[in-house]
Amino acid sequence: MPKYYICLDIGGTKVLGAIFDSDLKIVHRYKRKTKASEGIKNVEDTIINVVETLLKEYSIDISDVIAVSAGAPGIINNDTGVVLFSPNLPWKNYQIKKAIESRLSTTFYIGNDVNLGVLGEWRFGVAKKKNHVAGIFVGTGIGGGLILNGKLYTGHHYKGAEFGHIVLNIEGPSCNCGQRGCLEAFSSKVGMSNYIALQIKRGRKTLMSDAMSDGLFKSKALKSAYDVGDEVAIEAVERSCLYLAVASGNLVNIFSPEMICFGGGIMESMGDVFIPKIVQKVDAYCLTSVRDTVEFVAADLGDDSILYGALALILKQ
Ligand SMILES: [Zn+2]
Repeated sequence: MPKYYICLDIGGTKVLGAIFDSDLKIVHRYKRKTKASEGIKNVEDTIINVVETLLKEYSIDISDVIAVSAGAPGIINNDTGVVLFSPNLPWKNYQIKKAIESRLSTTFYIGNDVNLGVLGEWRFGVAKKKNHVAGIFVGTGIGGGLILNGKLYTGHHYKGAEFGHIVLNIEGPSCNCGQRGCLEAFSSKVGMSNYIALQIKRGRKTLMSDAMSDGLFKSKALKSAYDVGDEVAIEAVERSCLYLAVASGNLVNIFSPEMICFGGGIMESMGDVFIPKIVQKVDAYCLTSVRDTVEFVAADLGDDSILYGALALILKQ
């Protein structure tokens, strides 16, 4: 009888994989770099390689696996397993479910990574037993996810919950989506890095000068510069939190969620700094009577929330 689940977190630079046992606990992990720039075949081969390595290292066979499931960035129909579009992966109208199933001889599911991250937190993490949850995941970019009336809400054609592209200032900094002043352009790692780079260019002294590579800072460096009172690091954090508070205020007014859950790499490393600041600022940007019933919390599955969400996607079937 098959009793294991294999779950994947597919990104532009790496694929994380884990085996879950029948108690829904992670029993083995494997991670492999991928070169998304080298095309569909490269990412597909990496996915197959991660699954095969997990099986080999844990000494089980694909016939012991109930299903394989994955989260990936982009607009993904999680019923048909078609990736309509992905910003960091070479996929457009790509029938990935078909492609992977024909190579692995098992069932394969896939959904948007942050949607699944929020689903994971709702099923297994901090948002357990809540009916209405909004999730904001702050990493290189910013993704969103929504649980409404106790169900993952993905919008028409699976395009919903793009909280990173809520426009907060029409004359704000340029965003990767082509718009200006999106939440992502202020508060993501990219947004904060652009702000820091601008201050360095203006000749300001900051510890962050040594922390930038390829236009992005290392999260640990931001934390240490912030902790010793580096002015530019503090400004970047304050600015990021302000816009996260404005966006959260809008989500509070629109959805009246029980909880807004913050995840992603930046929250992993600096959530204890960010979340109190967001909570302190949010009251100015929403109706207090609605805000009174909202909890603001950090995701508690950390880097594994997407893996757990992928598991929840299998269990939902
Ligand atoms: Zn945008």
